[in-house]
Amino acid sequence: MIREQLARIQDNMARAAQRSGRDPKEISLLAVSKTVPVEEIAKARDCGQFLFGENYLQEAATKIPLLANNNIQWHCIGHLQSNKAARAAELFAVVQTVDRLKIAQALDRHTKIIGKTLPVLVQVNIGREKQKSGVLPEQAKKLLREIRKQTDLPVLGLMVMPPYDPNPEASRPYFREIAELTRLLADQQLFENNERPVLSMGLSHDYEVAIEEGATMVRVGTALFGSRPAGAPTISYPE
Ligand SMILES: *Cc1c(COP(=O)(O)O)cnc(C)c1O
Repeated sequence: MIREQLARIQDNMARAAQRSGRDPKEISLLAVSKTVPVEEIAKARDCGQFLFGENYLQEAATKIPLLANNNIQWHCIGHLQSNKAARAAELFAVVQTVDRLKIAQALDRHTKIIGKTLPVLVQVNIGREKQKSGVLPEQAKKLLREIRKQTDLPVLGLMVMPPYDPNPEASRPYFREIAELTRLLADQQLFENNERPVLSMGLSHDYEVAIEEGATMVRVGTALFGSRPAGAPTISYPE
């Protein structure tokens, strides 16, 4: 089943890219594996999927070691507290949820101690939702400047999660707005590679729209692994 779902998603991704005149190779798929057992993750890995995203540090800390030596790149997509930064810096290859200087500094400190380079994304609260993490769009530039000045973390780009609406078209204006902001910030040389800033957006229900609007990475969970157990949070909140 995972093989078929993966093929279907990749096919949809390629078609969305073509619709908007983009090269499908520019867009990668992050398989969101929160609540998914390691056996299922291993199956996806066997099908050639190597980017995975986890939200909860505790869960990631148990699963990641069980899948060591699989050449998997793990991304942190859950909200991080500074006191968990050390563990996150050890576990993950990329942290997509940096939304304040303090967390960037904590990650920077710990990556230096363990001698690791940790690329990050800055999470933007594009819908200005009270309950969601992320820096407000108008404060993104200031935060990027501070991270540059005060840390050595390579900031690859931005990550967003617009307000949830089952209709994928409802996400489009948000995706468009963040793509514009990404271009603006890249013009000001605020990312690691300003020719190719990373833009992580789009979930199971709206990844095709996200690609049409410029996503370079989509984060897909349920469309790949099936629905999560009842009660499992859809969105990442503090542990
Ligand atoms: C759970 C989650 C996803 C995946 O959501 P699906 O609807 O299952 O595709 C993507 N991004 C973040 C930050 C998540 O928490």
